[in-house]
Amino acid sequence: MSDTTAGLVCGHHHLYSALARGMPAPAVTPRTFVEILEAIWWRLDVALDLEMIRWSAMLGALEALESGTTAIVDHHESPGCIEGSLSAIADACTEVGVRSLCCYGVTDRHGPDGAALGLAENARFLGEGGRGMVGLHAAFTVSDATIESAAELARRHGVGVHVHVAEGAVDSAAPERLGRFADDSWLIVHGVHLEYPMAGTLVHNPRSNMNNSVGYARPGSWPGRVVLGTDGIGADMLDEFRLAYVRAREHDVTATPDLAWGWLQAGSQLVPESLSDTVRWSYDAVDKPWCSAFTTGIRAIDVRVGGDLVLSDGRPTRVDPSEIRAKAAEQAKRLFARL
Ligand SMILES: [Zn+2]
Repeated sequence: MSDTTAGLVCGHHHLYSALARGMPAPAVTPRTFVEILEAIWWRLDVALDLEMIRWSAMLGALEALESGTTAIVDHHESPGCIEGSLSAIADACTEVGVRSLCCYGVTDRHGPDGAALGLAENARFLGEGGRGMVGLHAAFTVSDATIESAAELARRHGVGVHVHVAEGAVDSAAPERLGRFADDSWLIVHGVHLEYPMAGTLVHNPRSNMNNSVGYARPGSWPGRVVLGTDGIGADMLDEFRLAYVRAREHDVTATPDLAWGWLQAGSQLVPESLSDTVRWSYDAVDKPWCSAFTTGIRAIDVRVGGDLVLSDGRPTRVDPSEIRAKAAEQAKRLFARL
């Protein structure tokens, strides 16, 4: 029994969505997964500029740190401001004191030129030594040529592809189109409507899947590694673990918290350095899944990343949280005015 764990890892985040809270509601209420993408996320991402990207990442990284999450695997999209976006995100994470693994989610929604710019940003970032993967939005928004280019780029850099797969039924053809390129280095995000598994790590995002009403991913039946992600709804991984547990339980009343705890812990395999990070929590049995699954509101007290104390008594040591929240609120106002 201990009040200390290694740093937690968010296996799938969208730091750009940190400014989305409170955005003006769409004129017509979206009724399907694709309508949610069209009316909310694809309106928002195209309006982002570099300043908004920077402050959304600062806010998202701050919230991760305050939740004891020391590494973020981010999936970014900003079709109106692609070049340099991954560096802005990685720099913001470094400034706050959390680790990041960035990628740009390439899509053909803005034509082949848009896809080429997205591929180029992944190539630029990785080529300059950035820590990351190659991103694809999802099979249903990219051409076969783009899938092949992304897989080839990832191979060249010795990294995997980070891609949404079968989140909604609209993307159920994904395994057929992606499967022949995928290997164990790939991050298969959601996998709700997969009829058969693929190579790669499944990232289970229970809160987001419920929020988008896409269904249960049944991560317990995935043959390979499973990790947890938030899909952009913060980075409180203990909370996501609790939710993953009750979601599994809703499906099968014999499921135990050890299952979801295993998914939470497996996140460290994506960012192995996180194992050397330490988080001291407000609860002395945080490492006991049967205890932490039923204890809400556990807070990170002290966090060390790479030996440096980056959160002390619940306060970040490198940045001013009030300033970040104020700057992010200013950028959110600018963003909403553009929508
Ligand atoms: Zn996502």
